[in-house]
Amino acid sequence: MRQSSAQLRGVGLFGGTFDPVHIGHLRTALELKNALALAEMRLMPSAQPPHRAPPQASPKQRMAMLQLGLAGEPGLVADDRELRRDGPSYTVDSLIELRREIGPEVPLCLCIGMDALLTINQWHRWRELTDFAHLVVAVRPGWHLPDSGEVRDFVDGHRIRQTGELQTTAAGGLLIREMTLLPISATGIRQALQRGESIRYLVPDGIIDYINQNQLY
Ligand code: ATP
Repeated sequence: MRQSSAQLRGVGLFGGTFDPVHIGHLRTALELKNALALAEMRLMPSAQPPHRAPPQASPKQRMAMLQLGLAGEPGLVADDRELRRDGPSYTVDSLIELRREIGPEVPLCLCIGMDALLTINQWHRWRELTDFAHLVVAVRPGWHLPDSGEVRDFVDGHRIRQTGELQTTAAGGLLIREMTLLPISATGIRQALQRGESIRYLVPDGIIDYINQNQLY
């Protein structure tokens, strides 16, 4: 059943390098937006991800591809705040900014993958993330949390089990949600292009045209 806009509340934030954005990201963002009954889901490209090699496409190109991917889906919105900011892209800074914009009452859900959760203790000011947002962790069925350690303690300290709880408070919860994530990665897409293989149906057609026109990857 489609949700009426009156039932939708809160903002989701889905960060990534998006080099390029692909249907794994887009489908997950849409499913999470609907499952959490959020009014909007923002996809936010990182300018200088602190924990990985620099992206190959420029910020402008990654943003252009993201906008092509989101065209026609009004609930999914591109958010370029990290591309406009100098220095490394720290998620906590983006949450602080967004919280200031939406006010203290509106639920804000930072959506990450289980891979990111396992190393979240390497993020800048990581324990403060839940001061400004809920964390929603998308995982494949059959995943395992670490048995012990500070990430496990963090999860146990914030964990909520019911999706509806995300709507009753603005921040502070951590929800782990099993999802069938499509087995697609931007790395695999860049490698396929380098080998001269087709990436049709892995990214929207408009993005393929953009990659070809701009001779990316
Ligand atoms: P790369 O291969 O360059 O590392 P990626 O495809 O993993 O890229 P990122 O931009 O690094 O994509 O990831 C952004 C976010 O999207 C992360 O939270 C990651 O967990 C999630 N993600 C990556 N691939 C998928 C997928 N196939 N389905 C759902 N979420 C994904």
